Amino acid sequence: MISKEALIAEFGEQLEFDRSLSEFTTFGTGGPARLFIEVTTVEEMIQAVSAADRLDLEFMVVGGGSNLLVADAGYDGLIIHTGIGGMKLVEENEIVCGAGEELMALVRFAADNSLTGIEFASGIRGTVGGAVYGNAGAYGGDMAQILSSATLVDKAGRVKTVGSDYLRFGYRDSILKTSGEIVVEATFRLSKGDPVRIKEKIDSILAEREAKFPPTDKCAGCIFKNIPDEKSKHGKIPAGRLLEEIGAKSMSVGGARVSPRHANIIINGGGATSKDIRRLADKLKVKVFEKYGIMLEEEVIQVGQF
Ligand SMILES: Cc1cc2nc3c(=O)[nH]c(=O)nc-3n(C[C@H](O)[C@H](O)[C@H](O)COP(=O)(O)OP(=O)(O)OC[C@H]3O[C@@H](n4cnc5c(N)ncnc54)[C@H](O)[C@@H]3O)c2cc1C
Repeated sequence: MISKEALIAEFGEQLEFDRSLSEFTTFGTGGPARLFIEVTTVEEMIQAVSAADRLDLEFMVVGGGSNLLVADAGYDGLIIHTGIGGMKLVEENEIVCGAGEELMALVRFAADNSLTGIEFASGIRGTVGGAVYGNAGAYGGDMAQILSSATLVDKAGRVKTVGSDYLRFGYRDSILKTSGEIVVEATFRLSKGDPVRIKEKIDSILAEREAKFPPTDKCAGCIFKNIPDEKSKHGKIPAGRLLEEIGAKSMSVGGARVSPRHANIIINGGGATSKDIRRLADKLKVKVFEKYGIMLEEEVIQVGQF
């Protein structure tokens, strides 16, 4: 076991011990991180990752915590919280963005510069880094369609800039899920558009989403992925439809309940633990499997031991 003093000598005074992660997740649940550090520059990210590598410490990057279910026992390693900011317009139609920027701030920045193509992301929570990692998307769009390059830091602290092909985007998937590389900056290629129409589109998506995901609901978006199916419209069976049909909307465990507005969303209805959420998700999976023989796969990422 490395001493506190040795850890502080490696990471600096900003290293925190046993910091609760519930304030960093949109579910508002989860126990403490044994070690926690906030990084706001690429250099700080390299330092943190290199120190973790030298000490052979398990680590994980957290952005907006909007796609995470953190165990009540917490995370027995280092959480690196990304606050790497900065957005700038390059060329006429490209935006370079720090990975810790809110995705919605990027949508607004694009609109303010009369750039179209990213409106689909209006209302998706979390950071740009988290969105690239999971190829976040909605309304027929996703990160894969607009990202032109990304700057990554690997597990040993080495930096490289890669094109979109390298990231091997798939449905809510990218190579980052297996490579463990961290996004520190991303560049998006958009098109010139009419600023009034862009803002109208953003407002209409936000209004529609607010009805489905009121900001007061503590959730992490859809719990399960849609099911790939070539014969279905858009190539997928919506998990929400199957969940609706098994009566999910009336189901709950402890403080966790299924949203009355959307059967694929679990809400912390007050005082829920992560275990409540996990158990409710398991119950939903069993019911769907019993009725349809389909095993739903989680879209939400589980952290720590359950
Ligand atoms: C109300 C609501 C609605 C949502 N709607 C949608 C939707 O329509 N479509 C959709 O796709 N998602 C949706 N989500 C889920 C979520 O917003 C996205 O998955 C989002 O992109 C996660 O970003 P984050 O920064 O919060 O990532 P986090 O939750 O912090 O982390 C998620 C994963 O990304 C990794 N990660 C985070 N930052 C980085 C980085 N810089 N480099 C490498 N890996 C990183 C983490 O290690 C973790 O494995 C919704 C969530 C909520 C709460």
